[in-house]
Amino acid sequence: MSSRTSDTSDVLVIGGGIIGLVTAWRAAQRGLATAVVDPEPGGGAARVAAGMLAAVTELHYGEERLLALNLESARRYPDFAAELSELTGHDLGYRRCGTLAVALDADDRAHLRELHALQQRSGLDSEWLSGRECRRLEPMLAPGVRGGLRVDGDHQIDPRRLAAALVAACERAGVTFHRAWAERLDVAGDRAAGVTTADGTGLRAGRVVLAAGSMSGRLAGVPEALLPPVRPVKGQVLRLTVPRRYAPFLSRTVRAVVRGSHVYLVPRENGELVVGATSEELGWDTTVTAGGVYELLRDAHDLVPGITELPLTETRAGLRPGSPDNAPLLGPSGLDGLLLATGHYRNGVLLTPVTGDVMAEVLANGRLPEEARPFTPQRFGAAVLMEQPA
Ligand SMILES: Cc1cc2nc3c(=O)[nH]c(=O)nc-3n(C[C@H](O)[C@H](O)[C@H](O)COP(=O)(O)OP(=O)(O)OC[C@H]3O[C@@H](n4cnc5c(N)ncnc54)[C@H](O)[C@@H]3O)c2cc1C
Repeated sequence: MSSRTSDTSDVLVIGGGIIGLVTAWRAAQRGLATAVVDPEPGGGAARVAAGMLAAVTELHYGEERLLALNLESARRYPDFAAELSELTGHDLGYRRCGTLAVALDADDRAHLRELHALQQRSGLDSEWLSGRECRRLEPMLAPGVRGGLRVDGDHQIDPRRLAAALVAACERAGVTFHRAWAERLDVAGDRAAGVTTADGTGLRAGRVVLAAGSMSGRLAGVPEALLPPVRPVKGQVLRLTVPRRYAPFLSRTVRAVVRGSHVYLVPRENGELVVGATSEELGWDTTVTAGGVYELLRDAHDLVPGITELPLTETRAGLRPGSPDNAPLLGPSGLDGLLLATGHYRNGVLLTPVTGDVMAEVLANGRLPEEARPFTPQRFGAAVLMEQPA
């Protein structure tokens, strides 16, 4: 336990990434006295992420349950973005521009045809285009493009702006920020009671939400059996700038699988072009490597040769919070008073609206909404207890 006790709140959220912030904002809107503990709220993976809202083009075999949650969150995005930007005055860079997924060779085309068939079986909107039709939509594409999928419903948002707006929304809703590192979870009488920060301060709370992204599986004090099975998956990303004279360089997100690895180009309205992303299982390493940058530029150049003309303005690596089934863990943890909102992996930006709503409902009313039931931590073997309403 801690050497001195500071604040007491109804809800204490560990982690001020987009998932912790949206949870705190929505909980505070429900009238709960809410606090966030994080040395740098608004940072985390959102600082690196591309911000594709890609429920349809990110569909993978075996992820049909996740698809339903992704689609539900995509459906909520327009209202969510409007509410957040109206409340804070922040422009979120939410752009309803659609996505084009293309194939560069016969193998890519076969892969894309499979994806198209899966999308159709799942009742999703996507249209097969010839190479020529793809280039008519996006003239900067390489002449060798063999075909592609036009998905008008997969949009984008700027995750850095989203994070900044969520911090502002939390402040307006009266959320307290403790700019500190949570060293351990404190448990009293078989119930989560708060945390002790790195300087020994105790923060007490009625409920604690663990939303620490890729660090969620490491918090001291959480019973071993209940630690969420979340691991870091490194992604390197480049940012280029499209000079005005080249605009519009690309009008929508363009993505492809090149030699088996995924590459995407996400054009923002302000001229930023995000090129991502590697996927590496290397623990908590966030080094930007020559190899990572090389691969991204090589694959992006195969797709859109003109990118080599653009200034390269930033290189960064971040950590996706991966879970065993690539889906998030939402709701009660198995320890009374401790809830989880983590494991959002490559869809955390997309899943921000639905996560905020789900977590606020379980915190305010003790009821996990229907759409979140397949995503309880229980599916990995931990016992889940019912939360008591606030
Ligand atoms: C390269 C890359 C590209 C991506 N592209 C997309 C995309 O296009 N679309 C999409 O939907 N998603 C994308 N994502 C995924 C998305 O960014 C993440 O799923 C999401 O940001 C996770 O948010 P989070 O709040 O759960 O975790 P994080 O962003 O990791 O935030 C966790 C926070 O917790 C804090 N913290 C951790 N431990 C403690 C502690 N003990 N005490 C106090 N604070 C603590 C950290 O400081 C951090 O601020 C991408 C991710 C990466 C890395």
